[in-house]
Amino acid sequence: MTRVHNFSAGPAALPLSVLEEIKNELPEYGDSGMSVMEMSHRSPAYQAIIEDAEATLRRVMGIPSNYRVLFLQGGATLQFAGIPMNLMRRGRCGHVVTGNFAKKAWQEAARYGDARVLASSEDTHFDRIPALDAVERACVDDDLDYVYICQNNTIFGTQFHTLPNCGDTPLVADVSSCFLSLPIDVERYGLIYAGAQKNAGAAGVTVVIVRDDLIGQSPANPYCPTYMDYRIQADKGSMYNTPNTFGIYVCGKIFRWIEETGGLVAMEQRNRAKANLLYNLLDNSKLFCGTAQKDSRSIANVTFRTPSKELDAEFIAGAAQRGIANIKGHRVAGGMRASIYNAVTLESVRALAAWMDEFESLHC
Ligand code: PMP
Repeated sequence: MTRVHNFSAGPAALPLSVLEEIKNELPEYGDSGMSVMEMSHRSPAYQAIIEDAEATLRRVMGIPSNYRVLFLQGGATLQFAGIPMNLMRRGRCGHVVTGNFAKKAWQEAARYGDARVLASSEDTHFDRIPALDAVERACVDDDLDYVYICQNNTIFGTQFHTLPNCGDTPLVADVSSCFLSLPIDVERYGLIYAGAQKNAGAAGVTVVIVRDDLIGQSPANPYCPTYMDYRIQADKGSMYNTPNTFGIYVCGKIFRWIEETGGLVAMEQRNRAKANLLYNLLDNSKLFCGTAQKDSRSIANVTFRTPSKELDAEFIAGAAQRGIANIKGHRVAGGMRASIYNAVTLESVRALAAWMDEFESLHC
């Protein structure tokens, strides 16, 4: 078996021990006589799987009992519409635009009501988290249904290190690329959601954690598809229809792996150690430079470049020869990006750092 050092932004590296556990259970789960893939979602065996996944996630994240946990499909992208359709009750929300996905979420919300951009970093090509004073003022003055942020910007390698103080206005956060990579205080948010394919499992599951009082008895928008009605999904245990049964099973395995390897405190320590290794190298390099402003740097996605596109391409090609995969930056950002989610080991990050050192010595 030759597994590469996988720096993919998502779908991303998963822990080998979890993959092997899944491999062993693939033909027969427990004594059920069948694979999880072959099981009815209404069977007691599957009910136990989804309940265990939710219970483990609640323990790992410390999710209070007045928050509902949903396992939905349609990717993080479907929630760009699901959130305004459910929560925009007075017709107005505020957005912080800090990257591609944040912008898409704002554009989608604007189809459903008055979605205002309260702060943006587009003027500096999304290399920072902007000042949040205007957000805090709007929470007092503008009668907003919620404020929306993308907490970690996967493409540009930036991350909110402090949250806006929204007072009583619910804070909604796309945490797709920082989900489970550090402890968060769930009570600071009205809704958190994440695509599973970075830190929580395989693509095809979106975890939505929403405060119960925000979802009311019906969605804000009368045309909200029944599938996307958070109240119905909450009351039906994410089983209004057939859920992504296998994907949720994989999520449950990952939640357990996190719990058994030290929980979110340990995840954060490891992720910071990996990020510091790369950022220290970038700060001392004569060839490479980090693309995010220092106080906005992400601990999940490290973005950097050389002085030229040709050198970037040479670096990426040389990396591939050394078993270092998926470090090409996103097409809208260029350069390189190392996504160093929970399952990316310090050993993999050291291999990347060694190639960066070697490449620099060849070119400086
Ligand atoms: N938000 C963020 C922060 C992302 O990184 C992505 C890409 N994985 C998305 C939203 C869109 O996710 P999906 O492809 O699951 O719709």
